[in-house]
Amino acid sequence: MKFTVGDKIKSKKPHACGGREWEIVRTGADVKLRCLSCGRTIFVSIPDAEKMTAVYYENGETNA
Ligand SMILES: [Zn+2]
Repeated sequence: MKFTVGDKIKSKKPHACGGREWEIVRTGADVKLRCLSCGRTIFVSIPDAEKMTAVYYENGETNA
């Protein structure tokens, strides 16, 4: 799976705040995600990011 800055994902498990939607804010060896509910950011490895992704929204489109 290719992670692109600006795209969004819905995670399988909710964040501590209950939100499940994340924006990809940086990519590289790790992926930096910002929770769209509480605004906190996390770093996860590419394999972990793939594992936690339930739905991937290209171009930030969230109305899928
Ligand atoms: Zn959150």
